[in-house]
Amino acid sequence: MSHDAYNVIIIGGGAAGCFAAANMPAGVKTAIIEKNPVLMKKLAITGKGRCNLTNNCGVSDVLANIPKNAAFMRSGLSRFTPADAMAFFENELGVPLKTERGGRVFPVSDKSQDIINALKKRVTCEIIRSRAEEIIIRDNTAVGVKCENGEYYAEKIILATGGKSYPATGSTGDGYKIAEKAGHTITPIKPALVPIIIAEDLFAEGLSLKNVCLTLKKGGKTLFSEQGEMLFTDNGVSGPLVLSASCYVDNPEGCTLNIDFKPALDEKTLDARLLRDFAANKNRRFKNALSALLPERMIAAFINRSGISPEKRVNEITRNERLCLLNLFKNFSLTVKSLGSIDEAVITDGGVSVTEISPKTMESKLVKGLFFAGEVIDVIGLTGGYNLQIAWATGRAAAGNI
Ligand SMILES: Cc1cc2nc3c(=O)[nH]c(=O)nc-3n(C[C@H](O)[C@H](O)[C@H](O)COP(=O)(O)OP(=O)(O)OC[C@H]3O[C@@H](n4cnc5c(N)ncnc54)[C@H](O)[C@@H]3O)c2cc1C
Repeated sequence: MSHDAYNVIIIGGGAAGCFAAANMPAGVKTAIIEKNPVLMKKLAITGKGRCNLTNNCGVSDVLANIPKNAAFMRSGLSRFTPADAMAFFENELGVPLKTERGGRVFPVSDKSQDIINALKKRVTCEIIRSRAEEIIIRDNTAVGVKCENGEYYAEKIILATGGKSYPATGSTGDGYKIAEKAGHTITPIKPALVPIIIAEDLFAEGLSLKNVCLTLKKGGKTLFSEQGEMLFTDNGVSGPLVLSASCYVDNPEGCTLNIDFKPALDEKTLDARLLRDFAANKNRRFKNALSALLPERMIAAFINRSGISPEKRVNEITRNERLCLLNLFKNFSLTVKSLGSIDEAVITDGGVSVTEISPKTMESKLVKGLFFAGEVIDVIGLTGGYNLQIAWATGRAAAGNI
């Protein structure tokens, strides 16, 4: 069955698709095809239900937080900056916003539903409840969408089906197949902003570390290094630092994570501190001499790695043993086994190759009238509101060039 023609069909009623619809010029007959009974299901769970919708920073800072294909995003983000996003939500949609630590922007109400409701009010177009399967292409031009329940025709199509992570929200990777069928290259799909599974069993589940420096290395090359918080899980590590580091793991083989437990102290200062502590505890056993320096639950793993007998008296520890200990404090290494599963990843790395999309208009370079917006594109952002900023900017660019 085929239906009346539209000017624009947007496939996917998530953040990017709805933002494109909300920015569609008046008079453009638009429809959103969404397979979920509700729009923006993933948006509801963003920022732990509070929706960290952008970051209150300049374009260059956003680009610095896009580990992959930042250059592609420069144009879109310069045309729709975080300041533009904040002005849009506050002034045009009437949602008061606040900025928290690290520039993270949230609605004052701390409710993602307020962002969703405000966007919904603006999205007045028709919603087609169906699953899109294929873009109908004639003479190298997108002319419609084949859905489970029939065919819909339009002059322009925006593909905004999201990624493959958190599939219960609707992002099940359909868009990759749809784009591939339309002739596009899909770069390898993998989880990003995801916990990392490690080979070692440190028995430290639930232990969280603050003010540590985490460095991801491969073959002697540093891929990521930052200070902040992380935690141990039953089979690996997670927390803000780890999620960011995961974006830089291309292939886990040969990757290590190195923890500096005392980033504020250089080796010389830390050695002096160790000497002082050891002098004050000289008659204690080694296993009882570390509690001022380490969380209790890390001590066993530390002692184990140091090779120093836990029963040894502190005044019997040799210089070499102390230097080995020092190295553990500054360079505690974990072997990366794999990334967590895509189902638990905050975002998906990989997608429609940016080499086949115009960075200014988000239009396909291969199929006329086909546009892309949001996570379906091969771009990833770190945590802090950058991924939604990417969704808004690409959705806006696609709508603005219809
Ligand atoms: C737990 C969690 C927390 C997050 N928190 C933040 C945060 O605080 N800040 C931030 O910037 N980012 C956050 N993100 C990332 C952010 O949510 C995504 O990057 C963003 O939602 C991507 O928008 P999108 O429109 O491209 O995709 P989505 O929001 O996933 O929307 C895609 C839509 O397309 C629909 N769809 C898919 N296939 C089809 C089909 N074949 N036919 C019809 N419809 C289809 C889906 O049902 C879905 O509604 C978070 C992600 C998760 C999982």
